[in-house]
This record gives sequence, C-alpha cells and structure tokens, in this order.
Amino acid sequence: MGPLHIRIQNEIRDILLALGFNSECEYRGNGWRADVYAENGDRKFAFEVQLSPQTYKRTEERQAIYIREGIIACWLFENDPSKRRQEKEDLPVFKIVECDNSLYVSLKGRKMLPLGVFIHDFVCGGIKFCSTLKPIPSVEVNFIEMPCNRCGSINHIYFLSPFKSACNAEISEMEAERMWSDSKFSFDKRIVEKVEQYVNGPGKEYFNLATIKRRYSNTVGDSYLSFGCADCDAIFGDFFVHEAIMESYYGDGVIETFTFNTNAVEEFKQEIPHWCHPGDNNFCE
Ligand SMILES: [Zn+2]
Ligand SMILES: [Zn+2]
Repeated sequence: MGPLHIRIQNEIRDILLALGFNSECEYRGNGWRADVYAENGDRKFAFEVQLSPQTYKRTEERQAIYIREGIIACWLFENDPSKRRQEKEDLPVFKIVECDNSLYVSLKGRKMLPLGVFIHDFVCGGIKFCSTLKPIPSVEVNFIEMPCNRCGSINHIYFLSPFKSACNAEISEMEAERMWSDSKFSFDKRIVEKVEQYVNGPGKEYFNLATIKRRYSNTVGDSYLSFGCADCDAIFGDFFVHEAIMESYYGDGVIETFTFNTNAVEEFKQEIPHWCHPGDNNFCE
C-alpha cells in the first residue's frame, strides 16, 4: 500500500472521528476488511479507497458482503470502473482526486467536493440517491446580435443556457431537435413574456429584438415559428440562428445575459438515477 493510500485512509478516519464516529483503518470483520470502518450506534459505514484497478464485477462482489453485514460501503476510486454505467443506489462509487496536495471527491463531474465535505455529507444525509434529474426553476437568457441579410439592420436574438439541476448537472432542452418546428421552448410564452419585459425595461433602448412569429421559409418549404427582422420582417432561418448560437459559444458573441425564475423548466426533468448533492438547494427527486 502506497503512502497516498495510507494518507487518504488516515484523513477519512480523522474526519469520521471528528464527527463522533468510532473509526478505524484496516478494520477486519467476518469475511471482509475495510480500508476505513466507522460506526455510530446502529449506523455502520465502510470506505474503500481504490488507487489500484479493481473491476466493476469484483467491486459488486465485495459490496454484496457489506450489504449482507448491514454496512453502507462507499467506494472511492482513482479510476472509476463504473464510468459509463448508470449510477446505482446499492453501489456508491465516486472518484478521488488529488490536486495541489489536497484531496477531493468528484461526483461524476457534476461537482468536486473537498474530501472532508464529502465524508461529512455522505454520512450526515447531504448526499442522497435520486432517480430523476430535476432542473432548478431558473432560466438564463443570452442575447446575441443578428444582422439582417435583406435590409442590413442589426437585430438581437436570444437563446437559453442549458438548465442546471440542484446538484449541478447540465440538462439540455434539445433545442436542436426542435429546429424548423413551432415547439421551441425559447418561444414558450412564459419565456417570451420575460424577455420582452427585459428589453423594454429602463436603459435597454439599444435592443432591437427580432420579432417572433410564423413565417414561410423557402428553404424548408413550410411555415414555422421563427425569429425575423424587426425592421423588414425577413425570416432568420433556424439554421442560421443555430449557427450564430454555436459561434457565440466560442467567441464573445453574447452581449448580455439575464436570469429569471420560472417553474416552466420542470417539464425537462429526466429519469437519470444519480447520487445527488444539492448543497443549499433541495434534492432532485
Ligand atoms: Zn431586415
Ligand atoms: Zn440531483
């Protein structure tokens, strides 16, 4: 066992002792040995630190023993063998990362918690298994410029940032799949209303917001709900709008951003089981 492994074990044990647990490294039970074992009344935890590879199958086998013993085992891997798998309630697997001589635990890239925070929250109910990723009721609107090809007038169009869950996962609203249709969420009346309020607010006279309505597109051969020039009514086809949005991801195309709260985003919740760490927010579902 290398020095890093021993250091991680000791840190975990010390954190658990400070939380009022009885805790020991290299604790032996009946048919198992835990890197760090901790107990407080009926609550029993094992923390396993895997810096050397261990297959997913082997991890499951060892986990089955802990479950049989009524111990909640938590696995901290340097190289997480469950990377591409769905997260499981009966197999908490996370990634341990050393950075600038401090230890962190990554929750599938959603969050990176200092080891002390992670252990505390894991044993004190700050981390819970949820079956659904639920967006927090907040929308971020980004404005970009859109010059009109027909009359040359500079218009402003907008797009929505990906929604975020309380545990910091990105939830995409799949806008690209709704191109050339009337069902784009950014044109939902609850969104449009807030955007119009914003650009008509005090000090926002420089906005020339493109108008939103159904227009006929020669390219598509059909009509759809679209942005169009506020001055000459030419359609800004979804293909060009999409390109302009993509370009703004790389450059400094976004001229202004604002955020507002709405429950409208709830329809974008997704059945994605995960270990949820919402911090000050509410858990997903
Ligand atoms: Zn125009
Ligand atoms: Zn969550």
